[in-house]
Amino acid sequence: MQIELADEGFLENPADLEAVKNIYRIYIKKIASRLAAIDPAYQLLSPSLEIIDDDTKLEEFIKENFEHNHHQQGSLRMAPFEKEGVVDRRGRVHGVRDLIIADASIVPFTVDGNTSATAYLIGFTIAQQLLKQKRRRGSFIDSLDRFEE
Ligand SMILES: Cc1cc2nc3c(=O)[nH]c(=O)nc-3n(C[C@H](O)[C@H](O)[C@H](O)COP(=O)(O)OP(=O)(O)OC[C@H]3O[C@@H](n4cnc5c(N)ncnc54)[C@H](O)[C@@H]3O)c2cc1C
Repeated sequence: MQIELADEGFLENPADLEAVKNIYRIYIKKIASRLAAIDPAYQLLSPSLEIIDDDTKLEEFIKENFEHNHHQQGSLRMAPFEKEGVVDRRGRVHGVRDLIIADASIVPFTVDGNTSATAYLIGFTIAQQLLKQKRRRGSFIDSLDRFEE
C-alpha cells in the first residue's frame, strides 16, 4: 500500500499551468530558433514545435512530464495580503509584529532552476536592511517597528 505523505497540488492553480506553458512558448521556442539559426540540422524533438503551438497538446505534455525538482519556494509568498501574500515587500509577516522571514519561502513566484543563490540573496538583502535601520535608529527592536520607513 502506498501512503501519500504530502500533496503539494502541483499545477492545480491554472496560473501555474499557464506559467509552465509560457516557458515552452517563449523561452524554449526562442532557444530552439537560435540553435536552428546556428545549425540548420537542429530540431527540437520533445516537445516538438507542433506540440508547443497546440494549447491542448502542450497542456497534456506538461501534465505527463512534470516532475518535482526539490526547489520548494513561495510557501510564505511575498505579496499584498489581499492577494494571498504572507509577507510584505520587506519580508514582514502581514499582521504579525516583529516577525520577518528571510529565506526562499518568500519568493513570490516559483521559478525553475537552482534556488540556493536566491535564498542567500534574500537573506543578505534583508540583513542589510536591518543593519541599515539599526545604524539609523539605534536600538534593533526599535528599528523593526519602523522598518517600513
Ligand atoms: C535534494 C535537494 C537538492 C537541492 N539541490 C540544489 C542545488 O543543487 N542548487 C541549488 O541552488 N539549490 C538546491 N536545492 C535547493 C536549496 O537547497 C534551497 O532552495 C535552499 O536551501 C532554501 O533555503 P532556505 O533558507 O529557504 O531553506 P532551508 O535551507 O530549508 O533552511 C531552513 C532552515 O530553517 C531551519 N528551521 C526550520 N524550522 C525551524 C524552526 N522552527 N526554528 C528554527 N529553525 C528552523 C531548518 O533546520 C533549516 O536549517 C536543493 C534542495 C534539495 C531538497
